[in-house]
Amino acid sequence: MNVLVINAGSSSLKYQLLNVDTREVYAKGNCERIGIEDAFIGHEEMGGEKQKLVVDLPNHKVAAQHVFEILSKLDVKIDGIGHRVVQGAWRFPESKVVTDETLGWVREVAPLAPLHNYAEADVIDECRERMPEVGNVVVADSSFHLQIPEYAHRYALPRDVVDRLHIRKYGAHGTSHRYIWRMTDAFTKHETHKLVSCHLGSGASLCAIQDGRDMDTTMGLTPLDGLIMGTRCGSIDPAIVCYLERNGYTNDEVDDMMNKQSGLLAVSGISSDTRDIEAGAADGDANCQLALDMFAYRATYLVAAMAQAMQGFDTIAFSAGIGENSPETRSSICKRLEWLGVKVDEEKNKVRSGEVRDITGEGSKVRVLVVPTDEEYMIALDVQELLG
Ligand code: ADP
Repeated sequence: MNVLVINAGSSSLKYQLLNVDTREVYAKGNCERIGIEDAFIGHEEMGGEKQKLVVDLPNHKVAAQHVFEILSKLDVKIDGIGHRVVQGAWRFPESKVVTDETLGWVREVAPLAPLHNYAEADVIDECRERMPEVGNVVVADSSFHLQIPEYAHRYALPRDVVDRLHIRKYGAHGTSHRYIWRMTDAFTKHETHKLVSCHLGSGASLCAIQDGRDMDTTMGLTPLDGLIMGTRCGSIDPAIVCYLERNGYTNDEVDDMMNKQSGLLAVSGISSDTRDIEAGAADGDANCQLALDMFAYRATYLVAAMAQAMQGFDTIAFSAGIGENSPETRSSICKRLEWLGVKVDEEKNKVRSGEVRDITGEGSKVRVLVVPTDEEYMIALDVQELLG
């Protein structure tokens, strides 16, 4: 079955056309700077060079039209389309086939993720118009986290406010954490029961997964909470927001500051990219070293919280851009967790590979894995299950 996976960001639209059975990727790309000047599409086909196509992309619908145009030249029949929806809220406890009703739900919960959900809903409209014979599936990033017990997902705010505005911990990266669990379970031949899944990319979150059930996660109502990220501050005292606003910052300015000007970028003062920061720290830049230390400290602080959600942990899995590619970060996190029985094998930790691998050190009480994530494949699997 050939599945087109579409992931609309606030100003981008990523796509990947793959075969679910063989895992062959025919083409993938990203429409960037949608709604901004100098928009372009970075497109890549199997065995081909990456191309940059300069086009006008006034909105996501037009971007989707370009994607269909490009893919039509490939001569690959699309059998189903999977849409990553950031916020499914209470409406999507699992992935669902798109109907008028379910598409309405994507828009109904959009106030909780306005930059993403409306864009993806427009793309779904375009797909249904363009290819009425092909089924669409919504895969919400928040679905997995709806399993989190109430004592862990509820905020201690007034009940009427929380209930009226649907405020709770929804989390994100749920599709990735679900995939990391699946791969870990298979790799350890069902020996893992209590997994701390670490999705460490430019956005980052942890998830406590006990025998496949999501027990807690570090992101909250929005993806701003929890770990320190590339440009997001993660958990801070919520009173800081009020303090900033009383000091003249507007609500939009605070929102922008916390999401786009904070995190590793703010602390290092040079970049949001761990590669640059690691290079800076190696050259003796104290702010870069501090950024790395803060990132690792917060990560371990929250690993302990995830372990508490399961009364312990037997496996920790590192994934996404930083988790898969930075042996320094993995080592720094594991060393800080040694008092909990975590030991990493430094030689195995250095090996680069795209495979699931075990980097557990001798005498470790916790299995340490690197599990490359593949959200597109996980989405395509859901499409196959619902439409195949
Ligand atoms: P997202 O999908 O959230 O944009 P990714 O999972 O692709 O993020 O992660 C991107 C981040 O991964 C980069 O910003 C960078 O910090 C980090 N990264 C990628 N490669 C490396 C590497 N070799 N060493 C350290 N960090 C890396």
